[in-house]
Amino acid sequence: MQVYEAPLRDMKFVLHELHNDDGFGNLEALAEFTPDLTDAILEEAAKVAQEVLLPLNRGGDAEGCILENGVVRTPTGFKEAYAMFRDGGWCALASDPQWGGQGLPESVNKMTEEMICAANVSFSLYPGLTHGGTTAIEGHASDELKQRFLPKMVSGEWSGTMCLTESHCGTDLGLLRTRAVPQDDGSYKLTGSKIFISAGEHDLTENIIHLVLARMPDAPAGVKGISLFLVPKYLPKDDGSVGPANGVSVSAIEHKMGLKASATCQLNFDDSVGWLVGKPHKGMEAMFTMMNTERVSVGVQGLGVGEAAYQSAVYYAKDRLQGRSLSGVKNPGGPADPIIVHPDVRRMLMTMRAYNEGCRAITAWVSRALDAEKHATDPEARQRAEDFVALMTPVVKALFTDLGFESANLAVQVYGGHGYIAESGVEQYVRDARIAMIYEGTNGIQALDLVGRKLPAHMGRYLRSFFHPVSTFIEANKADADLGKMVEGLEKAFGALQLSTATIAERGMRDPEEAAAAATDYTRLLGLVAMGYCFAKAAFVAQTALKGGTDEADFYKAKLATARFFFDRILPQATSAFLAIKSGKASMMALEAAAF
Ligand SMILES: Cc1cc2nc3c(=O)[nH]c(=O)nc-3n(C[C@H](O)[C@H](O)[C@H](O)COP(=O)(O)OP(=O)(O)OC[C@H]3O[C@@H](n4cnc5c(N)ncnc54)[C@H](O)[C@@H]3O)c2cc1C
Repeated sequence: MQVYEAPLRDMKFVLHELHNDDGFGNLEALAEFTPDLTDAILEEAAKVAQEVLLPLNRGGDAEGCILENGVVRTPTGFKEAYAMFRDGGWCALASDPQWGGQGLPESVNKMTEEMICAANVSFSLYPGLTHGGTTAIEGHASDELKQRFLPKMVSGEWSGTMCLTESHCGTDLGLLRTRAVPQDDGSYKLTGSKIFISAGEHDLTENIIHLVLARMPDAPAGVKGISLFLVPKYLPKDDGSVGPANGVSVSAIEHKMGLKASATCQLNFDDSVGWLVGKPHKGMEAMFTMMNTERVSVGVQGLGVGEAAYQSAVYYAKDRLQGRSLSGVKNPGGPADPIIVHPDVRRMLMTMRAYNEGCRAITAWVSRALDAEKHATDPEARQRAEDFVALMTPVVKALFTDLGFESANLAVQVYGGHGYIAESGVEQYVRDARIAMIYEGTNGIQALDLVGRKLPAHMGRYLRSFFHPVSTFIEANKADADLGKMVEGLEKAFGALQLSTATIAERGMRDPEEAAAAATDYTRLLGLVAMGYCFAKAAFVAQTALKGGTDEADFYKAKLATARFFFDRILPQATSAFLAIKSGKASMMALEAAAF
C-alpha cells in the first residue's frame, strides 16, 4: 500500500533549527519569508501532494502515457491535476517575480519538490523540467526571448523540455548531429532527431518550449561546437497566443521500466524555427545552468521516493503479523507479533529513515547555499555559497538517487513476497526510483565531475567550503560528553576523506585513470561525511532542546536515536569506501577488454 504523509516536522527542523550557523549570513532579501509564512506554504504543499497527486500515482503507473495520431495522452486525472497545480501557483513558486514567479527561497522550494516527488514522481517531471528551462532562458537568452517566453513558462501555461540525447549520443554530447542553419532574420532552422525526451509531447499545456542542443554548419567538432536553441512546438503569434505548428513531431514514446506517467518521447525536428540561447558554440555553458538546477532536483526525486517507500514499509511492518518477538510476546491477543518487532526489519526501517533524514538535512544545507548564491550581500559569503553548490551538486544527485533506490528496494524486502506483487504498490517505487541514477548524467558521470572537475578547481577551493565547517564543528564539539562518540565517528570518517582527497590528487596527477577509478567511492565517502556532519549537528540541537525542556520530546528523542543508528550502522561504510579508494585502479583495470 502506498502511504505518504509529508514529513513536515522534519522539514521544519532542517529549515529552521539545523543550519542557522551555516556561514552564509542573513539573507535580507528573503526576510519576508518568515518561518510562519514558509510553514504555511509547506502545509499547503503537503495537501496538494497527499490529496491531489498521491491518488494518481498508482493509476498513472498502470495506465501510462499513450501516443495516438501524433498526440500523447497523459493518464486519467493528470490533466485536471496539472490545471489545479498551475492555477494554484505551484509552477511559479521558485521563479523570479519579474516573470510572474513568487520568488520563494530555494530552501523551501526544495522541500515542496520532495513532497511532489514522494507523491507522484512522474508528475513532478512536467513542472520540474519547465522550471529548469526557465533558469537557462533567464541566464542566457536575449531580452526579447525572455519577454516572449518566460511569463508563460513560469506560470505553467507552457511547459519546457531539455533535448540533448540522440540515439548515438548520450553521455558524449560532442557526437550530436542535430543541425541548426542560420536564417536571414536571425533565427535558425533545426533538423534532427532526439530520443528519451521527458515531457517531449503531452496534453497538459497548450505549447511546449524545447531547449535543443544542435550544431551550426561552421561548428567545430565535439562539445566545443554545440549551441543551444529555443524551439517552440507552436510558434507564438505577436499577441502571445499559440500560432502555427513548428515542424516538431513525436515518432514514438518509450516503453520503460517505471516512471510510466511521464511521457518519454522520440522527437523529430524538421526545419523547425529556433532562436539561439547564449553564444554560438557555447551551448553547453547555457545548458549547464539548466542541468545544474535539474541535478539537485533529481537528487531530491531520489529522496522523495525513498521517503514514500519508507512510510509504506513502516505501515506494513506495523500491520503484518509474523513470528514472535525474541524479547517476549508483544501482541498477546493475536496469533503473532507485527514484523516491526524483529531486529532485521528494524535494520531495514532504520536504514531508510536515516537515509531520508540525512538527505533532507543535506538538501536544506545545499539549498540555503543556493539562496545565498543569489541573495548574500557579503561577497565572501556568496563565493563560499557558489563553491559549496558546485561541490555538492554531483554528490546530491548521485548519493540521494542511489539511496532512494536502495530504500525502495528495502521497502520491497519489508513487504516480503507481497512487495514483489504489483498490488502492494511498493515495487513501483523500485521501478520509478531507478531512472534517477541514470538521467541528468549517470551517477558514474557525477562522480567523475566531482573528482575530475570540482576537486581540482581553483586549487581545491570548492572543497574548502565543505571542509571548513566540518572541521570547525569537530573541534568545537570533540570534548562534549554526550556527543563525543558521534563526533569521534565523524572525525574518523573526515580523516579518511582528507586522506582520500590527497591520495586521489597525487595519483590522479600521474595517471587520470587512478582518479576515475576512485570517483564513485569518493563521492559516497564525501556524502557519508556530509550526512555525518548533519546528524551530529542534529543530535546537538535535539540534545539542547531536550535539556532545556520541550513539549516535543518524542520528536527530539527520535532524532537522537536515528543519529545514533547512523553513526553505529551506516557511517562505518566510510571505512570500506576509503579502503577501496586506497587499493587503486590495478585490479579494476587488470583484464584486457578481450578477456571479458
Ligand atoms: C526515462 C528517461 C528520461 C530521460 N529524459 C531525458 C530528457 O528529458 N532529455 C534528454 O536529453 N535526455 C533524457 N534522457 C537520457 C539520459 O539523460 C541518458 O540516458 C543518460 O545521460 C545516459 O546516456 P546513455 O543512455 O546514452 O548512456 P551512455 O552514454 O551510452 O552510457 C552507458 C554507460 O557508460 C558509462 N559511461 C559513458 N561514458 C563514460 C565515461 N566517459 N566515463 C565513464 N563512464 C562512462 C555511463 O555512466 C553508463 O553507465 C532520459 C533517459 C531516460 C531513460
